[in-house]
Amino acid sequence: MAAVKNILKHVSAEVAGRRRKCYRKKAHVILKGDPCLVVRDGPQSQRTYCTVCASEILTKADVSLADLQAHFVEPHGKGSPA
Ligand SMILES: [Zn+2]
Repeated sequence: MAAVKNILKHVSAEVAGRRRKCYRKKAHVILKGDPCLVVRDGPQSQRTYCTVCASEILTKADVSLADLQAHFVEPHGKGSPA
């Protein structure tokens, strides 16, 4: 069986190796050792977000994914109730 395609390759969670700034708000500081969300928009473009913003971004993505998934739910589903 072929592996299921991962469409979220450009998004990853990393641990900051040094002090970084949050891309969304300059006042947000990511300290060394803190978890951060890294989004790669292109080969030269990498954006890092602090935990607060990462949470908001992932929540929004979650909603988007649920919305997408809703298009593929079988109408007379054999699935389990949500
Ligand atoms: Zn932030």
